[in-house]
Amino acid sequence: MPNFHRIKCDHCGFKSEPSPESYLALELDKPTGLDSSPSHPDNPADIIIPNPGAKICLEAHGFTFKSAMKDGRIVKYIRKYCRECGAPFEFRKYYINGLQMAGCLTPVLVSLVPALLTGLLSGHWYLGIIAFLGCLGVTATILGFLTERMLSKNHAEKLLQNKDIPRCPHCASIETTGSRIKCPECGFRSGKLIVTRSK
Ligand SMILES: [Zn+2]
Ligand SMILES: [Zn+2]
Repeated sequence: MPNFHRIKCDHCGFKSEPSPESYLALELDKPTGLDSSPSHPDNPADIIIPNPGAKICLEAHGFTFKSAMKDGRIVKYIRKYCRECGAPFEFRKYYINGLQMAGCLTPVLVSLVPALLTGLLSGHWYLGIIAFLGCLGVTATILGFLTERMLSKNHAEKLLQNKDIPRCPHCASIETTGSRIKCPECGFRSGKLIVTRSK
């Protein structure tokens, strides 16, 4: 389940409607035009992936999470708030998760050997755990790095777009989110972002 955001103003008490902090979408080559696949209002070729129900949605379009990610079709929409004018907007970026692509079992198995050895040789089980966590971090990072290299050229080009900076479409400010957001109700810069687990 996604986190929800809302703006609460310390000055006038205004509270905005809660909205998801971020969500994923499946980028198709062209809009489907099907009512059963709700698409993003600004990008009709992006099918919003429901959560729960992601697997069914992806399969309906002939993908698994892994194949869609490998193809550079998983997009993440992240909600931002402009500090200058208070406008909410979305930042779209291509989503890649090396662990999900390789399966999370691989780094776990790879890390078990040195962890057991450390634990046995030193005679201290906690050293084994420290070695396990250390190896897990390293292998997960390497795996993430390798999967980025394994991606199609098309996908690699898409990932370059992720270097774009989130920018407010209303006033072009790059100052986003954080505290002291301009309140849309009273205009004071006393809005703060509240994150909740549910609506
Ligand atoms: Zn703005
Ligand atoms: Zn206010």
